[in-house]
Amino acid sequence: MSTDPTPAASPADMPQPVDLLAIGAHPDDVEYGMGGTLVRHHHLGYRIGVVDLTRGELGSKGTPELRRQEAAAAAQVYGGAFRVCLDLGDNRVAATEAAVHRLAAIIRVSRPRIVASHLAEERHPDHRAAHELVRRAVFAAALRNLDLDVGDHHIVAATLGFPTDRAIGGDVHIDVTEVWEARLATMQAFASQFEAPTLPIDQRLYGIDDHLALVAARARVQGQAIGVRYAEAFRCDRGVALDDLVAGLGGG
Ligand SMILES: [Zn+2]
Repeated sequence: MSTDPTPAASPADMPQPVDLLAIGAHPDDVEYGMGGTLVRHHHLGYRIGVVDLTRGELGSKGTPELRRQEAAAAAQVYGGAFRVCLDLGDNRVAATEAAVHRLAAIIRVSRPRIVASHLAEERHPDHRAAHELVRRAVFAAALRNLDLDVGDHHIVAATLGFPTDRAIGGDVHIDVTEVWEARLATMQAFASQFEAPTLPIDQRLYGIDDHLALVAARARVQGQAIGVRYAEAFRCDRGVALDDLVAGLGGG
């Protein structure tokens, strides 16, 4: 793994070809769920794109413009090639045909090999809806005879689901120990969202230190599953192939 990735420019606001496309319901969801995986794959030389389905405008902290700037800054930590917002409406995400086609068009233009988004069983309704929307958009993007005005049909190799409100036993675990500090920086970029708590700690609102501690606790639990300090875990919509059991599972 390279330790000297190319310095990151601000992400573009138009889709362009990438290897990995991360899709979150709200700005900061992809960082919360898979920030370490994004940093690690940036270091490995892969191109990363991000789609935020909403502006998170119902959140009580920060202005939409500030959140947009913070999202762009977060994407610079992992060299995001582009970051676009579909602005589907906070708390109104739904897998409508229009939304499916808009997201499928982005997939056709950005042509990712891997798509990652929310798990189906998340608590937040927007996250659940995002899971279904992404699933349908990946399918629609692959339909040769579906005309979306842009790009040729595109088949995504695998779609992954990441958690934001629990630790999971995943189908795939990514060791993010080496990139842990940068992983935390992807969240710290959203300073307005993680201000000092406005309620006592037992009433669900947390400051940044509590969010970072929670993310670390999940990553430690998920890391235990593969024998490393910190890991991010994903469910995968297909089987994960290994050519070699010894190299694939016995490498230590
Ligand atoms: Zn969210």
